[in-house]
This record gives sequence, structure tokens and C-alpha cells, in this order.
Amino acid sequence: MATESNVRQDIIEACLEMNAIGLNQGTSGNVSVQYEDRMLISPSATQYAAMTPDMIAAIDLSGGMPETWDGPLKPSSEWRFHWLALKNREDVTAVVHAHPPYATALAILRKPIPACHYMIAAFGGMDVPVSGYATFGSRELADHVMAALEGRSACLMANHGMVATGMGLEQAMWRASELETIARQYHLASLIGEPHILSEEQIDDTRRSLKGYGVQDAKV
Ligand code: 13P
Ligand code: ZN
Repeated sequence: MATESNVRQDIIEACLEMNAIGLNQGTSGNVSVQYEDRMLISPSATQYAAMTPDMIAAIDLSGGMPETWDGPLKPSSEWRFHWLALKNREDVTAVVHAHPPYATALAILRKPIPACHYMIAAFGGMDVPVSGYATFGSRELADHVMAALEGRSACLMANHGMVATGMGLEQAMWRASELETIARQYHLASLIGEPHILSEEQIDDTRRSLKGYGVQDAKV
């Protein structure tokens, strides 16, 4: 069983990995994990390479949306959508937010990613939708993100980036990386011609097959 300090370290490693694999740049993006009745979340505007476990902020998940946190630094400015997803979704114990180039380019065009690849099935529907736009860090943005995540494990965020969720950080990171890959493939295919879109039946079949596939079937 992971200890709280293991989870704090895992958050830092996920932040570093996001930048290392091109999912994110600089201090944008943020990562949270539920630990018991608290959300552990990366601090705001902090270089990932300089992050230490004690800098991870902790926010209570047991009651209504709190106004305080524990930790030496302010939590991520986007703590509200992380908190709402962890609090309200039984299928979410970790949330990853980033500004990856291809997913964000589609979000700037406000173009959902259609079922152009069978891996769209990993996100819960026939597309990855785009949330409405609001100022970063606002409650309004958090509400837009929660609406777009309805029935989905990930969404694009208009003129901003993307959010991926999971049961466990490994699954949320896997989805974040798969989402950027599909966004890139969709973009490349669109440059050459009109992408063929898979049917609902084909995506449903894939979803059934993915149930037994690796981290997609994570239980934590
Ligand atoms: P934080 O540095 O506050 O986590 O914000 C980064 C970001 O991506 C805002 O949308
Ligand atoms: Zn952001």
C-alpha cells in the first residue's frame, strides 16, 4: 500500500515525465491524486525540477469545497476541477492537466477528436469533447471541465489544453499520453485527406476488448 510520501513523490515524477515526453512545457499543467480523504496536488507556478514532496499541497475532500489547504506553497491554480473530479467521480482517483501541442491545437480550433482511431474507446464515448472556455483557475472553468467530462475520462479545454483522469496516476498518465497521440494522428491524417470515422459498434467492441488490456483495467 502506497504511503502519503510515496504518492507525493509519484506526483513529482508524473510532472517531470509530462515535460520529458512532450506533454507539457515549463510550469504549465498540474497533477493530483486522492489519498484517503484528501487531494494531494502539485503547487502553483513551481518548476517541476525544483519540486520536493513537502511542497505538494493537500486539500480536504470530505466536505464542501474548502477555502484552505495544507502546505508551504499555494496549490495549483486549477485545484477546483481536480477537486470536483476526485470528489464527484467514482471512477477517478487521479487527474492530469497539461497543454500538449496537438491536443491544444485542436482545443484552439474547438474541434472534438472523433472516433478516428480505435483508442478513442479509452475515453468513454465516441469522441473526446471540448469544454467551454473560461479564465484559467476559475470556478467557471472547473464547471465547464466537469460538464465536458460527463461520461468521459478525458476532455480538451477550449483555447487551453486537456484533462485526463484515471483510477490511479498510472492510468491518468497513460490516458494523457494516448490522447496526445490520437490528437497528433488525427491532425496528420487530416492534412492528407478526410479521416474515416469508426462506428459506434466498432468503438463498443473495442471498449469491451480494452477491459482486459493492461493499465486500462487498473483497479486502484
Ligand atoms: P499552475 O501552475 O497554477 O498549476 O497552473 C498551470 C496551468 O496549467 C493553469 O491552467
Ligand atoms: Zn492549464
